Amino acid sequence: MGIGEILEKDNLERSELITLLNSEGEDKKLLFSRASDIKLAELGNKVYFRGLVEFSNICGKDCYYCGIRKSNKKTHRYNVTDDQILEAARFAHENNYGSFVMQAGELESPAFTNRIEHLLKEIKKLSSGKLGITLSLGEQSRETYKRWFEAGAHRYLLRIESSTPELYHRYHPEDSLHDFQKRLDCLYTLQDLGYQTGTGVMIGLPFQHTAHLADDLLFMQKMDVDMVGMGPYIEHQDTPLFQFRDQLMPIQERFELALKMIATLRILMKDINIAAATALQAIDPLGREKAVKVGANIIIPNITPGKYRNDYALYENKPCVDEEPEECKSCLDVRIQLADGEIGYGQWGDSKHFYRRTEKTINYEN
Ligand code: SAM
Ligand code: SF4
Repeated sequence: MGIGEILEKDNLERSELITLLNSEGEDKKLLFSRASDIKLAELGNKVYFRGLVEFSNICGKDCYYCGIRKSNKKTHRYNVTDDQILEAARFAHENNYGSFVMQAGELESPAFTNRIEHLLKEIKKLSSGKLGITLSLGEQSRETYKRWFEAGAHRYLLRIESSTPELYHRYHPEDSLHDFQKRLDCLYTLQDLGYQTGTGVMIGLPFQHTAHLADDLLFMQKMDVDMVGMGPYIEHQDTPLFQFRDQLMPIQERFELALKMIATLRILMKDINIAAATALQAIDPLGREKAVKVGANIIIPNITPGKYRNDYALYENKPCVDEEPEECKSCLDVRIQLADGEIGYGQWGDSKHFYRRTEKTINYEN
Protein backbone atom coordinates (compact mmCIF):
# COMPACT_ATOMS: atom_id res chain seq x y z
CA MET A 1 0.00 0.00 0.00
CA GLY A 2 1.36 3.43 -0.95
CA ILE A 3 1.77 6.21 1.57
CA GLY A 4 -1.15 8.16 0.09
CA GLU A 5 -3.55 5.30 0.86
CA ILE A 6 -2.14 4.80 4.36
CA LEU A 7 -2.66 8.48 5.14
CA GLU A 8 -6.33 8.23 4.19
CA LYS A 9 -7.02 5.37 6.60
CA ASP A 10 -8.87 5.85 9.89
CA ASN A 11 -6.95 3.28 11.84
CA LEU A 12 -3.31 2.47 11.34
CA GLU A 13 -1.67 -0.90 11.78
CA ARG A 14 1.82 -1.53 13.05
CA SER A 15 3.29 -2.18 9.59
CA GLU A 16 1.71 1.04 8.31
CA LEU A 17 3.16 3.03 11.20
CA ILE A 18 6.58 1.60 10.36
CA THR A 19 6.14 2.69 6.73
CA LEU A 20 5.29 6.22 7.88
CA LEU A 21 8.27 6.36 10.25
CA ASN A 22 10.60 5.18 7.48
CA SER A 23 9.25 7.63 4.92
CA GLU A 24 11.69 9.91 3.07
CA GLY A 25 11.54 12.54 0.33
CA GLU A 26 8.08 13.14 -1.18
CA ASP A 27 6.50 10.52 1.11
CA LYS A 28 7.79 12.34 4.18
CA LYS A 29 6.41 15.62 2.84
CA LEU A 30 3.01 13.97 2.39
CA LEU A 31 3.14 12.67 5.98
CA PHE A 32 3.99 16.11 7.36
CA SER A 33 1.35 17.84 5.32
CA ARG A 34 -1.38 15.36 6.34
CA ALA A 35 -0.43 15.76 10.03
CA SER A 36 -0.53 19.53 9.71
CA ASP A 37 -3.98 19.42 8.05
CA ILE A 38 -5.33 17.14 10.78
CA LYS A 39 -4.05 19.41 13.51
CA LEU A 40 -5.60 22.47 11.92
CA ALA A 41 -8.93 20.70 11.38
CA GLU A 42 -9.08 19.21 14.89
CA LEU A 43 -7.41 21.84 17.06
CA GLY A 44 -6.93 24.99 14.97
CA ASN A 45 -3.61 26.84 14.81
CA LYS A 46 -3.34 27.77 18.51
CA VAL A 47 -0.14 26.87 20.31
CA TYR A 48 -0.26 26.85 24.10
CA PHE A 49 2.56 27.76 26.45
CA ARG A 50 3.55 25.99 29.64
CA GLY A 51 6.18 27.94 31.59
CA LEU A 52 8.66 25.31 32.80
CA VAL A 53 10.63 25.40 36.02
CA GLU A 54 13.22 22.69 36.43
CA PHE A 55 13.42 23.32 40.12
CA SER A 56 15.92 20.68 41.23
CA ASN A 57 18.39 18.26 39.67
CA ILE A 58 18.61 16.16 42.82
CA CYS A 59 17.48 12.69 41.85
CA GLY A 60 17.26 9.36 43.66
CA LYS A 61 17.35 7.36 40.43
CA ASP A 62 20.05 6.20 38.08
CA CYS A 63 18.58 6.05 34.56
CA TYR A 64 21.47 5.14 32.24
CA TYR A 65 20.77 7.96 29.74
CA CYS A 66 20.34 10.94 32.04
CA GLY A 67 23.02 13.49 32.91
CA ILE A 68 21.55 14.26 36.34
CA ARG A 69 21.36 10.61 37.47
CA LYS A 70 22.23 10.02 41.08
CA SER A 71 25.64 8.45 40.40
CA ASN A 72 26.93 11.32 38.26
CA LYS A 73 29.24 12.90 40.81
CA LYS A 74 30.22 15.65 38.35
CA THR A 75 26.78 17.27 38.50
CA HIS A 76 26.52 20.34 40.66
CA ARG A 77 23.28 19.74 42.55
CA TYR A 78 20.79 22.57 43.13
CA ASN A 79 17.38 23.13 44.57
CA VAL A 80 15.52 26.33 43.66
CA THR A 81 13.93 27.92 46.74
CA ASP A 82 10.17 27.99 47.22
CA ASP A 83 10.20 31.77 46.83
CA GLN A 84 11.98 31.51 43.50
CA ILE A 85 9.51 28.89 42.27
CA LEU A 86 6.61 31.12 43.27
CA GLU A 87 8.33 34.04 41.55
CA ALA A 88 8.55 32.00 38.35
CA ALA A 89 4.86 31.07 38.67
CA ARG A 90 4.01 34.74 39.08
CA PHE A 91 6.05 35.49 35.94
CA ALA A 92 4.13 32.82 34.00
CA HIS A 93 0.83 34.19 35.27
CA GLU A 94 1.64 37.85 34.60
CA ASN A 95 2.89 37.04 31.11
CA ASN A 96 -0.32 35.18 30.34
CA TYR A 97 1.32 31.82 29.78
CA GLY A 98 -1.82 30.14 31.08
CA SER A 99 0.02 27.12 32.45
CA PHE A 100 3.00 26.24 34.56
CA VAL A 101 5.07 23.03 34.72
CA MET A 102 7.13 21.91 37.68
CA GLN A 103 9.76 19.32 36.80
CA ALA A 104 12.66 17.85 38.79
CA GLY A 105 14.67 14.78 39.57
CA GLU A 106 12.70 12.08 41.29
CA LEU A 107 12.41 12.12 45.06
CA GLU A 108 9.94 10.18 47.12
CA SER A 109 9.63 11.37 50.70
CA PRO A 110 7.01 12.87 53.01
CA ALA A 111 8.96 16.15 53.05
CA PHE A 112 8.96 16.32 49.23
CA THR A 113 5.25 15.51 49.04
CA ASN A 114 4.48 18.24 51.58
CA ARG A 115 6.67 20.76 49.79
CA ILE A 116 4.96 20.27 46.43
CA GLU A 117 1.51 20.29 48.02
CA HIS A 118 2.31 23.60 49.71
CA LEU A 119 3.68 25.11 46.48
CA LEU A 120 0.63 24.02 44.50
CA LYS A 121 -1.68 25.75 46.94
CA GLU A 122 0.43 28.91 46.91
CA ILE A 123 0.51 29.00 43.09
CA LYS A 124 -3.25 28.61 42.94
CA LYS A 125 -3.54 31.45 45.46
CA LEU A 126 -1.18 33.88 43.70
CA SER A 127 -2.91 33.32 40.35
CA SER A 128 -6.46 33.30 41.78
CA GLY A 129 -6.76 29.76 40.45
CA LYS A 130 -6.02 30.90 36.90
CA LEU A 131 -2.68 29.24 36.26
CA GLY A 132 -3.04 25.62 35.12
CA ILE A 133 -0.41 23.35 36.67
CA THR A 134 1.35 20.32 35.20
CA LEU A 135 3.70 18.16 37.25
CA SER A 136 6.54 15.99 36.01
CA LEU A 137 8.02 14.56 39.19
CA GLY A 138 8.32 10.90 38.37
CA GLU A 139 6.89 7.89 40.15
CA GLN A 140 5.05 8.53 43.39
CA SER A 141 2.53 6.71 45.56
CA ARG A 142 -1.19 6.93 44.82
CA GLU A 143 -1.63 8.92 48.02
CA THR A 144 0.94 11.52 46.93
CA TYR A 145 -0.55 11.86 43.44
CA LYS A 146 -3.96 12.30 45.08
CA ARG A 147 -2.79 14.99 47.46
CA TRP A 148 -1.15 16.92 44.64
CA PHE A 149 -4.27 16.61 42.50
CA GLU A 150 -6.42 17.92 45.31
CA ALA A 151 -3.95 20.77 45.89
CA GLY A 152 -4.40 21.97 42.29
CA ALA A 153 -2.27 19.99 39.82
CA HIS A 154 -4.43 18.78 36.97
CA ARG A 155 -1.96 17.39 34.45
CA TYR A 156 0.93 14.96 34.92
CA LEU A 157 3.66 13.96 32.51
CA LEU A 158 5.39 10.63 33.07
CA ARG A 159 7.27 9.32 30.06
CA ILE A 160 7.34 5.55 29.74
CA GLU A 161 10.71 6.15 28.00
CA SER A 162 10.28 2.93 26.00
CA SER A 163 7.12 0.83 25.99
CA THR A 164 9.10 -2.34 25.16
CA PRO A 165 9.99 -3.88 28.55
CA GLU A 166 13.19 -5.52 27.22
CA LEU A 167 14.43 -2.15 26.00
CA TYR A 168 13.33 -0.37 29.16
CA HIS A 169 15.54 -2.77 31.12
CA ARG A 170 18.53 -1.94 28.96
CA TYR A 171 18.19 1.74 29.84
CA HIS A 172 17.70 1.30 33.59
CA PRO A 173 19.27 -0.62 36.45
CA GLU A 174 17.52 -3.87 37.37
CA ASP A 175 16.04 -2.93 40.73
CA SER A 176 12.77 -1.98 42.34
CA LEU A 177 13.42 1.75 41.81
CA HIS A 178 13.49 1.26 38.05
CA ASP A 179 10.68 -1.19 37.52
CA PHE A 180 8.79 -1.05 34.20
CA GLN A 181 5.55 -2.37 35.68
CA LYS A 182 5.66 0.20 38.48
CA ARG A 183 6.01 3.04 35.98
CA LEU A 184 3.09 1.66 33.99
CA ASP A 185 0.98 1.33 37.12
CA CYS A 186 1.73 4.97 37.95
CA LEU A 187 0.28 6.01 34.58
CA TYR A 188 -2.92 4.05 35.30
CA THR A 189 -3.15 5.60 38.77
CA LEU A 190 -2.79 9.11 37.36
CA GLN A 191 -5.58 8.45 34.87
CA ASP A 192 -7.75 6.93 37.54
CA LEU A 193 -7.31 9.94 39.83
CA GLY A 194 -8.54 12.29 37.10
CA TYR A 195 -5.30 13.84 35.88
CA GLN A 196 -4.89 14.75 32.24
CA THR A 197 -2.22 12.16 31.74
CA GLY A 198 0.80 12.43 29.49
CA THR A 199 3.54 10.05 28.53
CA GLY A 200 6.30 9.88 25.95
CA VAL A 201 9.50 8.24 24.83
CA MET A 202 12.99 9.12 23.74
CA ILE A 203 13.67 8.71 20.04
CA GLY A 204 16.91 7.37 18.58
CA LEU A 205 18.17 5.47 21.63
CA PRO A 206 20.77 2.75 21.11
CA PHE A 207 19.20 -0.69 20.40
CA GLN A 208 15.92 0.98 19.39
CA HIS A 209 14.44 0.29 15.93
CA THR A 210 11.56 1.83 14.01
CA ALA A 211 9.39 -1.14 14.97
CA HIS A 212 9.90 -0.30 18.66
CA LEU A 213 8.81 3.28 17.97
CA ALA A 214 5.72 2.02 16.16
CA ASP A 215 4.95 -0.03 19.27
CA ASP A 216 5.43 3.10 21.39
CA LEU A 217 2.82 4.91 19.30
CA LEU A 218 0.41 1.98 19.64
CA PHE A 219 1.07 1.98 23.38
CA MET A 220 0.07 5.66 23.61
CA GLN A 221 -3.08 4.92 21.62
CA LYS A 222 -3.97 1.90 23.76
CA MET A 223 -3.35 3.83 26.98
CA ASP A 224 -5.63 6.53 25.57
CA VAL A 225 -3.31 9.24 26.88
CA ASP A 226 -4.29 12.90 26.74
CA MET A 227 -0.87 14.38 26.09
CA VAL A 228 2.51 13.30 24.77
CA GLY A 229 5.95 14.82 25.18
CA MET A 230 8.63 13.00 23.21
CA GLY A 231 11.91 14.05 21.73
CA PRO A 232 15.26 12.85 20.47
CA TYR A 233 17.65 11.09 22.79
CA ILE A 234 20.86 13.11 23.12
CA GLU A 235 23.87 11.41 24.61
CA HIS A 236 25.64 12.69 27.72
CA GLN A 237 29.27 11.75 28.25
CA ASP A 238 28.94 11.10 31.97
CA THR A 239 26.29 8.40 31.62
CA PRO A 240 26.56 4.63 31.09
CA LEU A 241 24.66 4.75 27.78
CA PHE A 242 27.39 6.95 26.30
CA GLN A 243 29.50 3.82 25.65
CA PHE A 244 27.04 2.88 22.88
CA ARG A 245 27.32 6.22 21.07
CA ASP A 246 28.89 4.52 18.03
CA GLN A 247 25.62 2.69 17.47
CA LEU A 248 23.51 5.85 17.35
CA MET A 249 22.10 7.25 14.15
CA PRO A 250 23.47 10.72 13.30
CA ILE A 251 21.89 13.45 15.39
CA GLN A 252 20.14 15.04 12.39
CA GLU A 253 18.48 11.71 11.60
CA ARG A 254 17.28 11.45 15.20
CA PHE A 255 15.80 14.89 14.80
CA GLU A 256 13.98 13.97 11.58
CA LEU A 257 12.75 10.73 13.14
CA ALA A 258 11.37 12.71 16.08
CA LEU A 259 9.44 14.94 13.65
CA LYS A 260 8.07 11.84 11.92
CA MET A 261 7.02 10.41 15.29
CA ILE A 262 5.13 13.63 16.08
CA ALA A 263 3.44 13.70 12.67
CA THR A 264 2.49 10.03 12.82
CA LEU A 265 1.13 10.39 16.33
CA ARG A 266 -0.96 13.38 15.27
CA ILE A 267 -2.53 11.17 12.58
CA LEU A 268 -3.10 8.36 15.08
CA MET A 269 -4.43 10.50 17.96
CA LYS A 270 -5.98 13.54 16.38
CA ASP A 271 -7.15 15.51 19.42
CA ILE A 272 -4.42 15.02 22.03
CA ASN A 273 -1.90 17.64 23.11
CA ILE A 274 1.57 17.05 21.69
CA ALA A 275 4.51 19.02 23.07
CA ALA A 276 7.46 20.21 21.03
CA ALA A 277 10.29 18.90 23.25
CA THR A 278 13.23 21.10 24.25
CA ALA A 279 15.63 18.40 22.99
CA LEU A 280 14.48 19.26 19.45
CA GLN A 281 15.75 22.79 19.95
CA ALA A 282 19.06 21.46 21.25
CA ILE A 283 19.64 19.94 17.80
CA ASP A 284 18.09 22.64 15.61
CA PRO A 285 17.49 26.22 16.81
CA LEU A 286 14.13 26.13 15.02
CA GLY A 287 13.38 22.57 16.16
CA ARG A 288 10.28 23.35 18.20
CA GLU A 289 8.79 25.50 15.43
CA LYS A 290 9.34 22.67 12.96
CA ALA A 291 7.52 20.33 15.37
CA VAL A 292 4.59 22.76 15.52
CA LYS A 293 4.41 22.67 11.73
CA VAL A 294 4.04 18.89 11.69
CA GLY A 295 1.53 18.39 14.48
CA ALA A 296 2.70 19.63 17.89
CA ASN A 297 0.52 22.21 19.67
CA ILE A 298 2.31 22.80 22.98
CA ILE A 299 5.51 24.74 23.65
CA ILE A 300 7.27 24.66 26.99
CA PRO A 301 9.41 27.79 27.43
CA ASN A 302 12.02 27.38 30.13
CA ILE A 303 11.53 29.96 32.88
CA THR A 304 13.88 28.37 35.41
CA PRO A 305 15.98 31.18 36.96
CA GLY A 306 19.00 31.60 34.64
CA LYS A 307 21.77 30.65 37.04
CA TYR A 308 20.40 27.13 37.56
CA ARG A 309 19.80 26.24 33.94
CA ASN A 310 23.28 24.96 33.19
CA ASP A 311 22.97 22.41 35.95
CA TYR A 312 19.80 20.73 34.67
CA ALA A 313 21.96 19.08 32.05
CA LEU A 314 20.12 15.94 31.00
CA TYR A 315 22.10 15.91 27.76
CA GLU A 316 24.74 17.97 25.99
CA ASN A 317 24.16 21.38 24.33
CA LYS A 318 20.93 22.19 26.12
CA PRO A 319 19.52 25.38 24.53
CA CYS A 320 18.85 28.79 26.10
CA VAL A 321 20.88 28.11 29.23
CA ASP A 322 22.06 31.70 29.39
CA GLU A 323 18.73 33.42 28.82
CA GLU A 324 16.50 35.10 31.32
CA PRO A 325 12.74 34.42 31.06
CA GLU A 326 11.94 37.81 29.50
CA GLU A 327 14.28 37.15 26.59
CA CYS A 328 12.76 33.72 26.07
CA LYS A 329 9.28 35.10 25.72
CA SER A 330 9.99 37.64 22.99
CA CYS A 331 12.07 35.16 21.05
CA LEU A 332 9.29 32.58 21.16
CA ASP A 333 6.61 34.98 19.98
CA VAL A 334 8.49 35.57 16.77
CA ARG A 335 9.27 31.95 16.26
CA ILE A 336 5.74 30.66 16.65
CA GLN A 337 4.59 33.15 14.05
CA LEU A 338 7.15 31.67 11.72
CA ALA A 339 5.44 28.34 12.10
CA ASP A 340 2.01 29.83 11.24
CA GLY A 341 0.82 29.29 14.79
CA GLU A 342 -0.94 31.65 17.13
CA ILE A 343 -0.20 31.64 20.84
CA GLY A 344 -3.21 30.90 23.03
CA TYR A 345 -2.26 33.45 25.68
CA GLY A 346 -3.99 33.22 29.04
CA GLN A 347 -5.59 29.86 28.26
CA TRP A 348 -4.92 26.50 29.82
CA GLY A 349 -4.97 24.78 26.44
CA ASP A 350 -6.29 21.58 27.95
CA SER A 351 -6.30 18.36 26.00
CA LYS A 352 -9.49 18.08 23.94
CA HIS A 353 -9.03 14.35 24.09
CA PHE A 354 -9.31 14.39 27.88
CA TYR A 355 -12.70 16.03 27.71
CA ARG A 356 -13.94 13.65 25.05
CA ARG A 357 -12.58 10.68 26.99
CA THR A 358 -14.13 11.73 30.27
CA GLU A 359 -17.17 13.48 28.78
CA LYS A 360 -16.46 16.61 30.78
CA THR A 361 -16.99 20.09 29.36
CA ILE A 362 -13.91 21.80 28.00
CA ASN A 363 -12.73 24.85 29.88
CA TYR A 364 -11.15 27.06 27.21
CA GLU A 365 -10.71 30.23 29.25
CA ASN A 366 -9.67 28.63 32.57
N1 SAM B 1 12.61 12.71 36.96
C1 SAM B 1 11.38 12.75 36.26
C2 SAM B 1 11.22 11.57 35.34
O1 SAM B 1 12.22 10.96 34.99
O2 SAM B 1 10.08 11.28 34.97
C3 SAM B 1 11.18 14.04 35.48
C4 SAM B 1 12.41 14.70 34.98
S1 SAM B 1 13.30 13.80 33.73
C5 SAM B 1 14.76 14.72 33.57
C6 SAM B 1 12.37 14.23 32.27
C7 SAM B 1 12.70 13.46 31.02
O3 SAM B 1 13.98 13.80 30.54
C8 SAM B 1 12.74 11.96 31.13
O4 SAM B 1 11.43 11.43 31.11
C9 SAM B 1 13.58 11.58 29.91
O5 SAM B 1 12.78 11.12 28.84
C10 SAM B 1 14.26 12.88 29.51
N2 SAM B 1 15.72 12.70 29.36
C11 SAM B 1 16.59 12.31 30.30
N3 SAM B 1 17.83 12.16 29.77
C12 SAM B 1 17.72 12.46 28.44
C13 SAM B 1 18.63 12.46 27.35
N4 SAM B 1 19.92 12.13 27.52
N5 SAM B 1 18.17 12.81 26.13
C14 SAM B 1 16.88 13.17 25.96
N6 SAM B 1 15.97 13.16 26.94
C15 SAM B 1 16.38 12.81 28.18
FE1 SF4 C 1 16.23 11.08 37.56
FE2 SF4 C 1 14.32 11.57 35.72
FE3 SF4 C 1 16.95 11.68 35.10
FE4 SF4 C 1 15.83 9.30 35.59
S1 SF4 C 1 15.33 10.72 33.90
S2 SF4 C 1 17.80 10.02 36.40
S3 SF4 C 1 14.38 9.86 37.19
S4 SF4 C 1 15.84 13.01 36.49
